[in-house]
Amino acid sequence: MTVQPNSIEARDKAYHLHSYTNARALERDGALVIDRGEGVYVYDVNGKKYIEAMAGLWSVGVGFGEQRLVEAAATQMAKLPYYHTFTARAHSPSVDLAEKLIAMAPVPMSKAYFTNSGSEANDTAVKMVWYRSNALGKPEKKKIISRIKGYHGVTVASASLTGLPNNHRSFDLPLPGILHTSCPHYRVFKTDGETEAAFVERCAKELEDLILKEGPETVAAFIGEPVMGAGGVIVPPAGYWEAIQKVLKKYDVLLIADEVICGFGRTGEMFGTTTYGLQPDIMTLSKQISSSYQPISALLINDNVYAPLADESNKIGTFGHGVTAAGHPVAAAVALENIAIIEERDLVGNVRALAPKFQSRLKALEGHPLAIEARGVGLIGALELKPRDGFAAGQLGPKLFAIMTEKGLISRAIGDSLALCPPMIITEQQVDDIFDLFEASLDEFQRQLN
Ligand code: PLP
Repeated sequence: MTVQPNSIEARDKAYHLHSYTNARALERDGALVIDRGEGVYVYDVNGKKYIEAMAGLWSVGVGFGEQRLVEAAATQMAKLPYYHTFTARAHSPSVDLAEKLIAMAPVPMSKAYFTNSGSEANDTAVKMVWYRSNALGKPEKKKIISRIKGYHGVTVASASLTGLPNNHRSFDLPLPGILHTSCPHYRVFKTDGETEAAFVERCAKELEDLILKEGPETVAAFIGEPVMGAGGVIVPPAGYWEAIQKVLKKYDVLLIADEVICGFGRTGEMFGTTTYGLQPDIMTLSKQISSSYQPISALLINDNVYAPLADESNKIGTFGHGVTAAGHPVAAAVALENIAIIEERDLVGNVRALAPKFQSRLKALEGHPLAIEARGVGLIGALELKPRDGFAAGQLGPKLFAIMTEKGLISRAIGDSLALCPPMIITEQQVDDIFDLFEASLDEFQRQLN
């Protein structure tokens, strides 16, 4: 891309440090600047149209340009643009949203607690688990187990939970007391001749061995995404969650379901918890809660977590936690309207209706000479490329990603996997458009490689 002096691209290079970006490469190449969005499409500053097959960051469920959300924000902004929920204050958007989330919860939940990002929600979950153990007089029960390739965010505790090397490297993470167990990616981690059932049994056994090695009295909680997203869209094998939950129950370990990607319809149920039969004590929610039109996240906690926490706050005199914009009235009003749209338009039904087409077209790409595996559920999926001589692991994905972007398809390269997670308003024709562009990109990449 040629960057013109004083263009937005040039000013971006001059002043802006980007997340998840090689800063030196950005100085050289510049960023793709997106200007506007409509439905499943976004347009860059030069007017080029892209099909946004990642819904931004797995998040814009109702699509771009939804006027009902614009109006909900403007109306609330005019009435009460800000108020907080510290020191026994409340406002109706936060109360309405808390009530709505508790009513929607797929397992009995007691209270909703608001934060602003998925990372903050997961950091808060860690602190609640620690606080609860102290409340119960079990100060040694503090360790939290996450999984290799799990993604839970980037703040100090949530980045520690994340099981990806680039979130730890040079940041001096993970924190002590945060441990990682096996990743349920059968194709990659199975041993020679191991059946899927035997692999599941081994994952559960490895978790149990870790708990026993650490001492069950020291392990407080386990966190997992129903389907791993940013680790490469890793769908758990049949029976995985049942086997894991059996171990957690045996050793009195809480389950935190990180629903930040799965929540609000992505897997074809309102929550991934339902798709995989989870019984979480804590759920963390973000992204599609507001379709990312506003930054907001939430924790739902059951009485097993709430009751000791409430007692401890009573003993100390306060629950000493909270951020200024938690349960922000504008964000909460937008989230409520967003959830109303998801329900009224039955977007979960749309995910279910289109999933067979989406998944069968993805599966068909597995037959492409460059591909090794297709994975997915509902309207989320990834295609992984075959390792190839002359390319280090993780080099092929970004090259295919660049071709896809050139063709007007926005995906996400996770190593050598290309992820898809389109807005849930997508039509059957648009699903076909995504896969036609994906296929054409693969063919183009193959021509370049030959
Ligand atoms: N948890 C999951 C499953 C996520 O996918 C993400 C973000 O992608 C997070 C947590 C962190 O959310 P945020 O980026 O809003 O901090």
